Amino acid sequence: MGEFQAWFRTDADCLDYLEWLRWPAGFVCASCDPQTGGWRLGDGRFMCSGCGDRTSVTAGTIFDGTRTPLTVWFAACWLFATGKDGISALSLKRTLEIGSYQTAWAILHRLRSVVVRPGRDRLTGTVEVDETFIGGKESGLSGGRAKGKKVLTGIAVEILEPKGFGRCRMLPLADASAPSLHAFVTDHVEPGATVITDGWQGYSGLEDLGYDHDKRSQRAARARGEDPGELLPAVHRVASLAKRWLLGTHQGAVDGEHLASYLNEFVFRFNRRHSRSRGMVFYRVLELAVAHDPVRYEDLIACRRPRVVPPVPPPLRGHPPSLERAPAMRPWRVAAPGGSS
Ligand SMILES: [Zn+2]
Repeated sequence: MGEFQAWFRTDADCLDYLEWLRWPAGFVCASCDPQTGGWRLGDGRFMCSGCGDRTSVTAGTIFDGTRTPLTVWFAACWLFATGKDGISALSLKRTLEIGSYQTAWAILHRLRSVVVRPGRDRLTGTVEVDETFIGGKESGLSGGRAKGKKVLTGIAVEILEPKGFGRCRMLPLADASAPSLHAFVTDHVEPGATVITDGWQGYSGLEDLGYDHDKRSQRAARARGEDPGELLPAVHRVASLAKRWLLGTHQGAVDGEHLASYLNEFVFRFNRRHSRSRGMVFYRVLELAVAHDPVRYEDLIACRRPRVVPPVPPPLRGHPPSLERAPAMRPWRVAAPGGSS
């Protein structure tokens, strides 16, 4: 936190950090092959010495065209990356005094969209796999804040020896059929791993896909006098953590269309829960952000499933003020006008 405050005092500091992340060895033109350098122009942009294209540090990243000052972006990223439970759009709006809820919401969704690394490693060793319903309306929630239906979600969790959990993966599934479940396993678990599932027939055939399949029957567990709910303790633990997070931080206000990106955020944080340096997690999010293509606001609000009433895009208004401040010289020592001191 001390370093964060010392390093990123101005919007120019933040811009320079993004430049260093994106072009550690100096500016490189994205359109030229072989890679061509260039020079900095008076307005802060760069010009390629090969093709003559002009570009900025933020062009072609998730900060492309943003009207939100980078100090605000960095503070949001810090709260997103280092908080134990992240932050909700409403809290972000209040904390950073961002004028509109939609702006805060879009900042968080853009950060969520970068935390899934394409081609990331699959889970290895011993992996529990199960599917459960997540999101949507929870009984006992009042005020109609929760909307949408529960979504069937695949969960895979590495089991460590002698105890403990490793990394996890979570993804909404179309259904609990064998094709859906097989695709989930092959996308997220390395062949050769031992896959532990319950007795559901949708998991039959995993041996043919190169997995060592440990199928645990609920009926057999009941016959042995064991709790069938404890057959897959890791996935049930992770599922309950994710549900608690959605209900706590986000108060259940997550609709089915956006559940996948919330789960991405949950998995990203869960898989870094033992990271000793919170600052490294923050660095990692920004590193992914400058390497990620721009995410359009229209794509964030797009829903994949048709609705009876098409949603009205919330208008984006106003520019959040920068968090940059000049040194204030202990203003509380200055006598208030009309004061008796
Ligand atoms: Zn060029």
